[in-house]
Amino acid sequence: MLHFSCDSCGQPLDDQRFVVRLEVFPAFEPAEVSEADLDVDHLQEIAAELTELEFSGEELEELHSQTFRYDLCPRCHSQYVKDPLRRDALRRLNFSEN
Ligand SMILES: [Zn+2]
Repeated sequence: MLHFSCDSCGQPLDDQRFVVRLEVFPAFEPAEVSEADLDVDHLQEIAAELTELEFSGEELEELHSQTFRYDLCPRCHSQYVKDPLRRDALRRLNFSEN
């Protein structure tokens, strides 16, 4: 039997488990570089762009798509769905700085 714990607070989870699945991928489709584009000039351009953006080969792979999966307890779930990007939390931080 699999045992889960909440990825947010660490509490052991029973049947009342919520799964968060996130997929992050670029809207600009880096995979659209076709072989026809890969003449020498383009390669240099692409290499220059990649150097500018400081992507390593591994990071470029991650650019295509990243998925995250989290198990949450009911309490953390209800907090998560209210503010998935933690914008409220950040806003509160900014306010307290002023
Ligand atoms: Zn939790």
